[in-house]
Amino acid sequence: MTFDTILMVDWSGGNDRGATPKKDAIWTCIAGAEPIYHRNRSLAEAYLLEALSEELAAGRRVLAGFDLCFAYPDGFAEPLTGNDDPLALWDWFEARVSDSPDRNNRFHLAAEINAQFPGTGPFWFNALKEDIAHLPRKGMSREGHGLPEFRTTDEGAFSPWQLSGAGAVGGQVIMGLPTLSRLRQSYKDDLRVWPFETPDAPIVLAETYFSLLRELPLDSHDIKDAAQVKEYAELFASLNDEDWQELLKRPRPKTGWVLGRGNEDRLGTYIKPKLKNDCFALPQGVYWTPVDDALAHLQNKLRPAVRSEVVKTIKASGRILAEDALAKRSHPPTPNAAVDGYGFAGPLPNGPSILPLETGRAAPGAPHLEPVPKGKALRILTGAALPEGVNTIVLQEDVEVFGHQLRLNGSLKLGANTRAAGEDIVAKEVVLRSGHKLTPADIGTLTATGVDTVRAMKALRVGVLSTGDELRNTDEPATPDQIFDANRPMLLDIIRRWQMDPVDLGRAPDDREILKRRLTEAAQTCDVILTSGGASGGDEDHMSALLKDTGSFALWRIAVKPGRPLAFGLWDDTPVIALPGNPVAAFVCTLVFGRPALTTLAGGNWSAPTGFMVPAGFAMSKKAGRREFLRARIEDGKVERFVSEGSGRISGLSWAKGLVELPDEAMNIAKGDPVRFIPFGSFGL
Ligand code: AMP
Ligand code: MG
Repeated sequence: MTFDTILMVDWSGGNDRGATPKKDAIWTCIAGAEPIYHRNRSLAEAYLLEALSEELAAGRRVLAGFDLCFAYPDGFAEPLTGNDDPLALWDWFEARVSDSPDRNNRFHLAAEINAQFPGTGPFWFNALKEDIAHLPRKGMSREGHGLPEFRTTDEGAFSPWQLSGAGAVGGQVIMGLPTLSRLRQSYKDDLRVWPFETPDAPIVLAETYFSLLRELPLDSHDIKDAAQVKEYAELFASLNDEDWQELLKRPRPKTGWVLGRGNEDRLGTYIKPKLKNDCFALPQGVYWTPVDDALAHLQNKLRPAVRSEVVKTIKASGRILAEDALAKRSHPPTPNAAVDGYGFAGPLPNGPSILPLETGRAAPGAPHLEPVPKGKALRILTGAALPEGVNTIVLQEDVEVFGHQLRLNGSLKLGANTRAAGEDIVAKEVVLRSGHKLTPADIGTLTATGVDTVRAMKALRVGVLSTGDELRNTDEPATPDQIFDANRPMLLDIIRRWQMDPVDLGRAPDDREILKRRLTEAAQTCDVILTSGGASGGDEDHMSALLKDTGSFALWRIAVKPGRPLAFGLWDDTPVIALPGNPVAAFVCTLVFGRPALTTLAGGNWSAPTGFMVPAGFAMSKKAGRREFLRARIEDGKVERFVSEGSGRISGLSWAKGLVELPDEAMNIAKGDPVRFIPFGSFGL
C-alpha cells in the first residue's frame, strides 16, 4: 500500500465555533475511524501535530488531504514573495497572519495584499462592519488587478479571492496556509507537499476537494462536513498502488492540483451506491404523513444510485450534470456587432455629420484586420468582430450612403449596437450547476461557450414490474375477470419521458416465491425497481410482505387523495418503490412521489413542479388534513375537473392535461376561485 493512513481535513476560516459539533467548522477523519470536530484552528493544529507524530512514530505512511487551495492563481505569489514558489508563499502568510480563537486579521491582510496589486482586488467581500481601504465588498467592483479568477484545477464555483459569503473558500485559504507552513517546519524532510514536491516522505500533504464526486454518499453523518471527511478518507483508503501511481503522476503546476481531479472515473469505481436499510422509515407516531413531509424525506434520505461518466455535450440532452459545467471561453468571445450597419469610434458629433467609408467590411467569420482610423466608418454585419478603432455601430436604416461617404443624423450613444466580450458568459464561469438536467437550450449554451464534453450521471435504470394474478398483456387472451396490465406500459413511458432508462420487468403473479426470484434478478440489472399492485397490507399483498422480510420495509400512509398506501424498501440494496395497483393512484403517486425519489436517485436536483393559479370552473368543498389531486384541464380560461372522482376511471387521465392540487387545509371552492393547476409538462411529461 502506498499509504497506510489516510487523514482528511476540512478547514475553516471562521472564529471559535463552540463546544458542540457544528457544520462549517473544522473536521478531520482518519479512514476507519470516526470524524473529529475541532472548535478552532489552534486546537485543530495541535491535533494534527499529535496525529501525524503518532503515525510517524509507528512507521506508518500518511496521506493528509486538506480541502484547501494550496496555491493561488498564476501571478499572485511573485509580487509578494519575489518568486513563484507556492511553498514560499505559505511561509509568507505564516509570518503575517495573526490568529486567535476569537479574532484574526484575514480581511485586513487581504486588503494590504490588494494594495500591492494594481487596480482594485483581487480579494473581495469585506464581511466586517467597518469599511477597509482596498477591500471591496462586491466582486464586481474589482478591476485591473490583472490576476485570473481561478486556477486550472479549480473547476468549482468559488475562487480563492472571495473571502466570505455562502460557500466561499478565500477566508479559509488565508487562515489555512500558516498551519500548513508550520507543519512543514515541524516535520522537515519527513513531510512532502504534493504536487509541488516529489511525494517520497512518510507524510504527504495534498489538496483535496470534497465536492469532487457527486455520487459519493454523504449520509454517514448528520453534519455534511463530517460525512465529507469520513467518506473521502474511506474512498482514498480503498485505492491500490496502481491508483496512487495514476493520481500522483498528474501534471504538477505551480498553482497546485486537486488530488483525484482528472481521475474521477477511477475513483468512481470505488463508490458503492448503497442506501441505508432505514432510509425510507418515516418518523414514528405519525399515522398520516403530510405530503410535504413525505417529499422532504425522499429528498433528504435518498441519494444518487448511479455513477458519473464523461459524455459529449451533443449527446448529453436529458442527462444530469455530475459536476458544474464551466465556460471554456467567453460568450461572445470578442466584442462584436449587434446589428447590420456601420462601425466607427464613437461618440457621434452633435447634429448630422459625414464620415468617409473605409474600404472593405467586417463580417462574421471574416474580420476586418486593419484598424479603422478615427473619423472613418466601416461597413459591418451582425456578429462580426469589432475591428480595432470601432466601438459604436449605427444601424444601416439610420444612415445614407453616398459612394464612399456616410451621412449620419441624430445622436448615438458610445458603444451603441455593440456586444461586449463576455457580456453573456465569462470564460471559466459556472454555466450550469451540478445536479441540473440538461435541456436543449443548455446544449446550445454549453456549445456556445466551447464545452465539448460534460461529466454527467449515468442514466438511472428503472425496472418496472406489475404484480397481480388478474393481469394479462394485450397480446394474450383475457377472460372477463382478467384485466389488461395498463400500469407497466404507462410507467415505462413515463420513465422514458423522464430521460431515464426504462427496463421492462414484465408481470409477476401473486406468488411469493416467483416474485422473490423476479426481484432478485431485477436488482442485478436495475438501479431502482418500480412495482405496482400488492403494496397494501391485504392477503394478496405479497410485495409488502416480501419487503417486510428484508427489514427495510416502510409502508407510507400519506395524507393524499388519490393515495392508497405507498410502500418502499430495499431488495438486495436496490430501492423498490411499490405503487398502488389502481392505475389512477399509480399515475398520480408516480408524478408526485416517484418523480422526486427517482430524480434524487438519478443524481438530480429536484424542485416542486411549477403550478399556476387558475379560476376554478367547478365548485366543491374538501375536508382538512389531506391533500387532493384532481384530474383537470383548462377550458376557456377556467380549470375544469374530470366528471368523476372515481379512481378506477383511467380515461380521466387521458382527458386531463394536468392536476389541480388542493392544499392540506379545508377548502370551499366556488366557481371562479383560484386553484393551483399543475400542467403535466411541469411533471416532465
Ligand atoms: P392492488 O393494489 O394489487 O390491490 O390493486 C388495486 C387495483 O388495481 C385492482 O383492481 C387491480 O386489479 C388493479 N391493478 C393492479 N395492477 C394493475 C395493472 N398493472 N394495470 C391495471 N390495473 C391494475
Ligand atoms: Mg393485486
